[in-house]
Amino acid sequence: MLAQVSDPIIMVVKQTGDVRIHTFVSSFAYSNIANATHIIETRNQLVLVDGQFLVPYARAFRDYADSLGKPIERLYLSHRHPDHWFGLGTAFSDIPIYALPETMSFIQEHGEASRSDHWKLGDLAPDRIVVPKQAVSPGTETIDGVRYLFDRVTETEIDFHLTIRLPDLGVYFTQDLLYSGTHLYLTQHMDHWIQVLQEMLLSDYDLFMPGHGLPADKNEVARNIEYLSAARQAIGNGLAGDAFKGFMLQRYPERKCPGIFDIYMPRLFGGASDY
Ligand SMILES: [Zn+2]
Repeated sequence: MLAQVSDPIIMVVKQTGDVRIHTFVSSFAYSNIANATHIIETRNQLVLVDGQFLVPYARAFRDYADSLGKPIERLYLSHRHPDHWFGLGTAFSDIPIYALPETMSFIQEHGEASRSDHWKLGDLAPDRIVVPKQAVSPGTETIDGVRYLFDRVTETEIDFHLTIRLPDLGVYFTQDLLYSGTHLYLTQHMDHWIQVLQEMLLSDYDLFMPGHGLPADKNEVARNIEYLSAARQAIGNGLAGDAFKGFMLQRYPERKCPGIFDIYMPRLFGGASDY
């Protein structure tokens, strides 16, 4: 099942003046998890967000970026889960990669082990890893005339997560703080994760770019809060393992990519590492 690949979804999500926001979403089918990576196209250059997971999607994302005919100025990596950075080794080794210092040191220390752990992916895994070399810290920066706001969010879907906002465009790159139309990757930090999502609902932003699934609005942010609340309550009631999975699948039949359960459940219920 892992070896199945199908067409990605590519779209221009927003155009304002000189700026176009593009998204590239890998397959929702088979055991894929609809990895969403994005491009901020400005007058002279491109900024990318995340690098895709499997080889064919990373290549296709790079091909699409190249087809826009502007140089890729940099790529921001949101966090250390491999489905966001495996593709860097496939298709972005020539691009300056920016990440939080914690993400950089994780990939430096554990990236190669993580790559070998995914041997079952065969040719779909990269044949080498790329360690981000440029550190991002919280704050504001203007790149090619567009104002960016960077933030470091701790203890949610991952220990350290980078968010990127474009305050003048109302665009919020949430990556894995938001799962759009797909099942969420759950951790033990659902309380704090819900708080972060509640702040998003009260923000001035209206376009939310997730790490999985299609671009979203505040209604989807609210649905993620509801999903996390239901999961937290089910676990509080003693559901675990397959019983928990069955409950969530029945409660959210409309959500795609159930393959994510098998990725996080050993960690959440099996006492394996935290994230
Ligand atoms: Zn992810």
